[in-house]
Amino acid sequence: MLSKTTLGRTGIEVTKLGFGALVMGSMQANMSPEEGAKVIRKALEKGISFIDTAHVYGTYEHIRKAKKDWKEELVIATKTPASDYEKAERHINYALEALDLESLDIMLLHAARAGENVFRERAGAYQCLCDYKEKGLIKAIGVSTHHVGTVRVAGQREDVDVIHPLINVIGTGILGGTVENMASAIEASSQRGKGIYAMKALAGGSLLERMDEAFKFVMTLPGIDAVVVGMVSEAEVDMNCRIFSGETIPPKEREIAFRQKHLKIVEAYCKGCGRCVDACPSGALSMVDGKSSVDRSKCLLCGYCTPACPEFAIRVI
Ligand code: SF4
Ligand code: SF4
Repeated sequence: MLSKTTLGRTGIEVTKLGFGALVMGSMQANMSPEEGAKVIRKALEKGISFIDTAHVYGTYEHIRKAKKDWKEELVIATKTPASDYEKAERHINYALEALDLESLDIMLLHAARAGENVFRERAGAYQCLCDYKEKGLIKAIGVSTHHVGTVRVAGQREDVDVIHPLINVIGTGILGGTVENMASAIEASSQRGKGIYAMKALAGGSLLERMDEAFKFVMTLPGIDAVVVGMVSEAEVDMNCRIFSGETIPPKEREIAFRQKHLKIVEAYCKGCGRCVDACPSGALSMVDGKSSVDRSKCLLCGYCTPACPEFAIRVI
């Protein structure tokens, strides 16, 4: 049975394991709404009551289909990439309609790489979130970020309810500081009553082989309420639910789940620096038209290239 927790002082109760919808979206696995809905529905049936998505993931339709006629409790967090008020307002209204909801549980500023000035730079969009919370159309607001400084700043603001930070045991993708810096910013924010749910606990898939250790590291950090994990198959949902319920998964079963995975380079993020090519011991990566490209017949899914990428463009999905 999956355990539940309350996100900070929001009063919103979620399962400690949340379903991350990024991976099934058009930027990564590009699953159809029907395929995606099947996997999400499986997650709901297995007891997961928390889904994280975003305007840019293109997965509202997947979620809407999955939750059709679902009567149990379900919390959906989403995010807006908007900077100004009008755009944020459009994104809120779009989410309400596309997800078929009367109010949004959690709406965050989608600010992955933005630094500590994000609330000033995107003041219009954040004001819109505050106003819609006031109107009762959003229950909790905040920010999603890879940046230590943004977590620190958000933790000190009275108008932030929830923070969605990036953290993992090897520090892949953390901006503006170390794993220790991020952990202490998270703890301080939690002590001020913020709800914290983590992302990228498996470092974009490169910690799959050390999954138990990676999840344990994040879930035992002081201040973390929950973690969302990207899942693209029913087998993966099943395995993650079992791990979060305290079961030990036999190595053979893990292998089966890993075998369905592959390396994905998110072209839109790749800046063509070539660091991943040098990091790959198998010669599976090369530069094609200024972007990194993988030869899947050579890729062993060892994960050495993932931490080498400063843009977080390489994922195992
Ligand atoms: S996962 Fe390993 S083998 Fe595959 S491209 Fe990356 S470094 Fe090379
Ligand atoms: S390290 Fe990242 S940004 Fe650089 S070429 Fe590889 S995928 Fe692209």
